Formats: sequence, C-alpha cells, structure tokens
Amino acid sequence: MATDADAPNEDRRKYEFRKVIEELKDFEGSGTQLVTIYIPEDKQISDVVQHVTQEHSEAANIKSKQTRTNVQDALTSIKDRLRYYDTFPPEKGMVIFSGAVDSGGGRTEMVTRTLESPPQPVESFRYHCDSNFLTDPLEHMLADKGLFGLIVLDRREANVGWLRGKRVEPVKSASSLVPGKQRKGGQSAQRFARLRLEAIDNFYQEVAEMANDLFVPERHDLDGVLVGGPSPTKDEFLDGDYLHHELRDQVIGKFDVSYTDESGLYDLVDAAQDALADQEIMQDKSQMEEFFENLHTGEEATYGFDATRRNLVMGSVDRLLLSEDLRSDVVVYDCPNDHEEFEVVDRRHATPEHECEECGEKAEVREREDVIEHLMAIAEQRGTETKFISTDFEKGEQLLDAFGGIAGILRYSTGV
Ligand SMILES: [Zn+2]
Repeated sequence: MATDADAPNEDRRKYEFRKVIEELKDFEGSGTQLVTIYIPEDKQISDVVQHVTQEHSEAANIKSKQTRTNVQDALTSIKDRLRYYDTFPPEKGMVIFSGAVDSGGGRTEMVTRTLESPPQPVESFRYHCDSNFLTDPLEHMLADKGLFGLIVLDRREANVGWLRGKRVEPVKSASSLVPGKQRKGGQSAQRFARLRLEAIDNFYQEVAEMANDLFVPERHDLDGVLVGGPSPTKDEFLDGDYLHHELRDQVIGKFDVSYTDESGLYDLVDAAQDALADQEIMQDKSQMEEFFENLHTGEEATYGFDATRRNLVMGSVDRLLLSEDLRSDVVVYDCPNDHEEFEVVDRRHATPEHECEECGEKAEVREREDVIEHLMAIAEQRGTETKFISTDFEKGEQLLDAFGGIAGILRYSTGV
C-alpha cells in the first residue's frame, strides 16, 4: 500500500512534541522564575533579543536574590539560544522554555528547551514568567486535528470558510438578490412567487459554486463538511443537489445557526462540537475494527511488543497501531551468548535485572529508550505507517490495557 512519505514523520514530530510538553508540564520553579517565550514566524529575532534584554535589566528589581539570579540566568540562556537563528524564526515560529526547576531535595536544575515549527503556527508573541512553563497553547495545537469545510447560509447571505484544528478561517461571502416575501403592487402573485423561487435557486447555485471552488481541490485532505443556517434553507440547499457530489458525501451534519455572516461560521463550529469529537475518533475506531476483525478471522494481526517488533523487522506490518497513552521504555539486553532480548518497563521505573530466557545467563543492558521511538524507527525503515490510537473509546482502551498499547495490521500472515 502506498503511504504518504510525509505522514509518518508528521506523526512522529507530534509525538515528540507531546513528550517534551509532558516533561515541561511537570517542572516547577520555587519562585516566579520559569520563562516561556512564544515567537511567531514573522517576528524578527532581533526584536525578541531586545525584549529579552529589557526583561533581563528589569529583573534586577526582583527582591528575592535567588529568584532574581534564576530569572536572569534563564534569560541569558534564551539569548544564547536565539544566536542560532538568523533574521526570523523557522516556519510556523517557535517556543523557548528556560528556567531553574525543582529537582528535589531543595536543589534546582537549569532546563532550556526549544520547540521549532509547532503543528500549527504560533499566532502571537508572548513573554511569560511564572512558577510553571506555559504549555497550554502548544497542547491545544496538538489536540487540534482535522480540516473541515464550513458553509452557513440563509436566503440573503452566505459565508464559506475552513476549520483547521480549532481555528476558523472565513474565506468568501455572497449576498443574494432574493426579494422579500412582500410583493410590490401590480405584480401578479404567481409571477412574484416564480421569480422569487428562481432567485433562491440562483443563489443556492452561487453558494454551491463558491463552496465547490474552495473545497473540491482539497477534498482528499478534507475530514468533512459542516452546513449551518436556519431551517428550511440549509435543508433545501442540501436536498437540492447543489453541492459537488464528492462534497455531498462528506457532509457530516447540518446545524441550526441564526447568523450567516462571518460570525455564523464560529456559531456553526460551536453547534457541531459533538459531531466533530465523534469524527476525530472515527478514524481511530475504524483502524481498531480492522485490527480486531483480522485477529478473529485470520492471522493478519499482531500485538504486544515482541511479536509486533518481529513482524516490523520482517517488513510484514502495514500499519503499526500505538496507544496515545503508552508511556513506556524498552530495555535492550545482550547476554554473554549473544542473545538479544527486550523488556518493556514503565517510564518511571528503574531498569530491571534480566536473565536470558534462552540460556539463563545474566544479560547486560545495551540501551534503554522510549518504546514508541524504538518501534517507529523500525517502522520508518520498513515503510510501515504508524497510527496513534486514542483511548477515548472502548477498543482504544483495550489496545492499551489488553495489548500493552502495541499492535499491528499485517500485510500478510507470518505465523509470528
Ligand atoms: Zn542467552
């Protein structure tokens, strides 16, 4: 099966982001001394340096000597990082975190992290100094997936736009020449009604054309189309076959909204929250359905670390399914007789001793790493697609609890 070459890397980047964010979230400063800076792509690095320099001199007024020193150290460290960049930050901007964090027993440790090119553009410059790092905006970016087409209309006006993640982008609007219900004197009632229907029909065609022009070229990346407006306008519009047939199949719902100007697009997204949440895990659901079907009816399924890893190495895995909530490391052991063995351990636990299962000799630790990165690295070499599966539905939970968070859909049966 052909896979999009960029897709595995995108998933991997997202995973790595999530990991760094979880790490940063756990850090605490003993005072208001952890600095976070969000830098949009169009912000000049020299402006940021200037801002940081100014904060550095203002920090001289901080009363607590320890906090003062820590804040200034953090700012110096940020300035050092900024030297690596030319005029502007990388595409989509970047975020820098720096500060002295509690490392237990009254000790502190200096931590600096830079996250470049987040999943969605950094929208505005933010300087934040607190006892925690500011991770919320990044977490929202990670939670946001999907591309949806938006249409709101009544008989007088219409707006179309995009929903990218959680961001609404109005694109085009149209207004109609549909006459009101009141006819002018001298016009026959019949003729008036006919003209009015014609005008409505023309307007629906115009709106559909606007939507088709915008959405059809993106239809393969589109996760759905939402339509909003008062009744019966939106129903007439959808029932009337105005939209391109491929878009019609992608309509995931119609919703009552009172406004059909730009603000109506936002109302539409609000009204569609439940449908959007379902949509988000639909793809995860269908992956798990396929996995269970293969497991029950044939042998084109694998699960657990050892079997999945062996299948991955053989190149027999079509899709690697990993639980989004899997937080484990794998320890690789070598025994004196050259047997390679693995143990999956909770990330917070110490590395266990290991006896070789084949020869019983005491094995030595070769390395310990994140189990997800370990498996994804093999998957990438073998052209296997990796899918992260949410635990927000029953079979997703089962993946984590019953299969150790690791499974695969095979290209062919391997007997492993
Ligand atoms: Zn051995």
